Order: sequence, then structure tokens, then C-alpha cells
Amino acid sequence: MRFIETTALNDTYDLVVIGSGFGSLFFIHGFLRQRPKARVLILEWGRFNSHQWQLENQVNSDIPEESVIDNRSGKPWAFTIGVGGGTNCWWAQAPRLHPADFAMRSRYGVGEDWPLSYDDLVPYYTEAEKIILVAGPDDISAVWPDTPRYPLPPHNMTTADRILKAAMPDKHFVVPNARLSRPVDGRSPCCATARCNLCPVDAKFTAENSLDSVLSHPQVDICLSAKVERLDAEAGRVRRALFRQGQREFAANGDLFVLGANAIYSPYILMRSGIGGHGVGRYLCEKMYVHVEAKLNGLKHFDGGTGTTCFNTSLLDGEHRRTRGAVALYFENRFSYGLRSEFGRWREVLPISFYVDDIPQEANGISLGDGDRPVIEHFSYTDYAHLAIKATLEALPDILSPLPVESIEFRDVSSTLGHIQCTTRMGLSNADSVIDRDLVHHTLRNLVVVGTSTFPSTGSVNPSLTVAALSLRSADRLTRSAS
Ligand SMILES: Cc1cc2nc3c(=O)[nH]c(=O)nc-3n(C[C@H](O)[C@H](O)[C@H](O)COP(=O)(O)OP(=O)(O)OC[C@H]3O[C@@H](n4cnc5c(N)ncnc54)[C@H](O)[C@@H]3O)c2cc1C
Ligand code: SF4
Repeated sequence: MRFIETTALNDTYDLVVIGSGFGSLFFIHGFLRQRPKARVLILEWGRFNSHQWQLENQVNSDIPEESVIDNRSGKPWAFTIGVGGGTNCWWAQAPRLHPADFAMRSRYGVGEDWPLSYDDLVPYYTEAEKIILVAGPDDISAVWPDTPRYPLPPHNMTTADRILKAAMPDKHFVVPNARLSRPVDGRSPCCATARCNLCPVDAKFTAENSLDSVLSHPQVDICLSAKVERLDAEAGRVRRALFRQGQREFAANGDLFVLGANAIYSPYILMRSGIGGHGVGRYLCEKMYVHVEAKLNGLKHFDGGTGTTCFNTSLLDGEHRRTRGAVALYFENRFSYGLRSEFGRWREVLPISFYVDDIPQEANGISLGDGDRPVIEHFSYTDYAHLAIKATLEALPDILSPLPVESIEFRDVSSTLGHIQCTTRMGLSNADSVIDRDLVHHTLRNLVVVGTSTFPSTGSVNPSLTVAALSLRSADRLTRSAS
């Protein structure tokens, strides 16, 4: 990696990228493939904290997330500041969004349609899956069309999963994830320790272990500790990114700008720059994250190949989405709530988590405040999500009926799932959104916004594979239209 001092910055760059997380790095990957001679600058607020450093310090970043936001929302927001952004802390679950997630308004009359479809993303999903080396099952095309064979074989199911798979083969699937299911290039396969934000054996995809082709590309300069504060625009174009390093302010000039500073800081930078569009900083959203445990009679659990083995789509899509959220049920192969206490029955318990999709609300969001941190002023979930939880708890006995279940016990709702979304949404025009289907700002046509902030809705499952696919598509579209 070429880390450069501010004194060594070029006068101007072909591409200036703010942040080095999922959205940014996959954009650069696509961009350099078409334009390998382009000069690229990454302005990264954090430092490069290697995998080794993270293991030794037991954190992903030396900048705690709570220290950089003025959080008045009553709940935490989880992200990583540093080279690689969320590729460091993520747990590597990598499913595609469901095709219906892109068309909620037209199919179910709620939420928003995305300005592009699942089919538009298929080639880019496939490319992203190859880069991050997804391990997944062969039969998933029944729900996620045109998914080719994954680069790596699926992780082993648990015994409970195998029983459920046999009972509902078209609803119970191994979760595609970017944790190695066999050794690759000196990296060890996943050994199911389930502490994936700090994976001890480097089994999950991170920017450090798999995107060196971007981070160490000879055309890429990386400026660390460069906190971008504003973008300067004139005559319909962004001209410069203004950033602070220590007490001093600097500017980076460029032709094309990519803003990938996470779903709190990207809108904050736009707001500080006076750059608009409908909903900048509004519609802040997360899915709900709920946990239950099924006590089993005589069936031993925790014999699967990775931390979360399968997910069940029984409540994922359908007419119920008119009135309540999609629910993806994740079957956990880790004991967040401990083992059973009865002698000899320690493993007779099955933890299940569920992700509950919600409708983003304009009232939830970020404001400038009067300091130098974004104020997260309000956040609440809607009845759409709460009704989905109620319906799921009612449906679970039936879904789990192939198993010898003694009881199903509600555990809790986590305060965060780490999927911060929807604060610079894509859409058709300035009247409904900030950016278009290619992630380009509606009025400043040399500004691209990437990452989870661009989602018009939360979608039903984990977002980062979709972030990667959107960035690859955007880079492809922009470089082709320019050549
Ligand atoms: C504990 C945890 C587990 C997760 N597990 C999963 C999972 O299993 N599957 C999944 O799909 N998703 C998961 N996620 C979510 C995933 O991390 C995010 O969806 C993803 O990182 C979002 O990508 P992004 O590009 O929007 O932002 P990030 O990846 O967060 O990148 C933002 C970048 O911008 C930099 N930055 C921020 N502000 C500035 C500034 N002012 N100037 C310069 N640089 C700046 C940051 O340092 C960072 O490099 C998880 C998240 C957490 C917290
Ligand atoms: S389950 Fe363990 S080995 Fe596998 S990716 Fe997570 S932390 Fe790494």
C-alpha cells in the first residue's frame, strides 16, 4: 500500500475516493479494471490497523464509533473507521437481496421501488461473490434466480438444519457467506469459533486479505488520518474534497469524486457542503435483530461448520409484506445465551436470530448540530417491523415442527444489527432521492455516492454483497460511458 503525506499529493487526480470500506473499494476495483492508468486517491479518516493489530488490541479500530457521533437516538450505531471500513468488523454473511426487495412499492404497495432491478445486478453479484470467495449451496437459485455455483462449497449444516432441509428443501438453505470453507492462498478455513468481527484465523473476507489488488495498486495513493469535512462544488461539478489532518485543513482536487464514508458520515459531508437532493440525512434505518432459543428434546446442536449455518425463507417474501416486514430466520451454530444447565443436555438448544425489515421513516435521521459531529437525533422502528416479530413468534412452532422442540423462548431484541442504511437514497430524481440508479448525484454529475446509505429500503437480508455489486455496476457504467 502506498501511504502518502499531504505534501506529496498530486495537483489533481482522476478519481478521489472518500473512505475505504465496501462501497469505495469495490468501486475502485471496477474503475481500475477499465482505466488502469487513472490516478486514484483514497482519503481515509482512520489508520491502517492490520489484522494482527486488531487481534492484539481486540478492537477493529483505534477510533471508537461512539466518539465520532453525537448520539441522541437511544440506540448504538456500529461501524469501523479505518482502512477497509466494515470489511474489518463484518461477520461475512453474504446473501443477495431478494428480487422483491427491489420492487416493494409496485409489488406490495409499501416502501419504495429501487430504480434498478435484481436482474440488473445479477452479473455484478456474481463478480462480487467471486472476489470475496463466497461459500454457498448449489440449490439457492430457486429463490435467488441466476445464482451460479458459488466459488467455494457450502459450510456443513447442523443436524437440526439437515432435518429442516429435508422437510422444506425449497425454504431452508445454507447461508452464503464469505468465510472460507477450505484453505485458500495460505488462509485457513473457518473453524466455527463465531467471533467473526475479530476472526482469529483470517477465514473471512477483509480488504486486507483479498483486495490488495486495489489497496496496493501502483496507481492508488492512500492518505490516512484524512477526515473529509466538505466537498466544494461550482458550476455543477465537485472540484475539491476538503479534509482535516490534525489541526490543518487540506484540499484534494479531482475529476470524479466517490463518497463512501458510511451511512452516517456520507450524508453529514453532503449536508456540510450544502449539497442536496430529497432526504439527505433522513430515512436512517436498520433492520430489527431478534433472538429466540428452541429447547430441543434429545437432539444435540452446535455441530455445524460455521457460526451461522442456515437461513429459512418461510417468512421472507409474500403478500404479508403489504402489512408487515420480511423476516429472514438465521440458524445459529453459536451459543450467545450459553448452553443448557441440565446434566448431559447442554447442547439441546437451538438459537435462532431473525432480521426484520422495516419501512424507513423521514423523521429518523442525522442533523448537523453545532459541533463537528453528526447528531443522530431520532430513531424508532414502526409497527410494520413490530407486527412482523409478533407474526414470526406465532409461526415458529409450525416452522420448527420437524424438530423435537420442547419450548421456544424469546431472548431479546439486539440494540443494533450494524446495517446502517438509507440516508442518501437512490431514485428517479431530486424530488424523491439524492442519486440515480448509477449512484451518480442527480445534479452534481461527477459525484458518486456508494455504500449502504444509497439503499432506498433496508432489504430483507445482509446488505454488503449488494453494496459491492452496486459499486461494481456503477464503475462499469461510468467508465464505459466515458470511453
Ligand atoms: C459487527 C458488524 C457485523 C456486520 N456483519 C455483516 C455481515 O455479516 N454481512 C453484511 O452484509 N454486513 C455486515 N455488516 C455491515 C457492513 O459492515 C456494512 O454494511 C458495510 O461496511 C457498509 O459499507 P459502506 O461502504 O457503506 O461503509 P464502511 O464499510 O463502513 O466504509 C466507510 C469508510 O469511510 C471511512 N470514513 C468515514 N467517515 C469519513 C470521513 N469523514 N472522511 C474520510 N473517511 C471516512 C471509514 O473509515 C470507512 O473506511 C456488519 C456490521 C457490523 C458493525
Ligand atoms: S466462525 Fe470463527 S473461524 Fe469462522 S469466520 Fe468467524 S471467527 Fe473466523
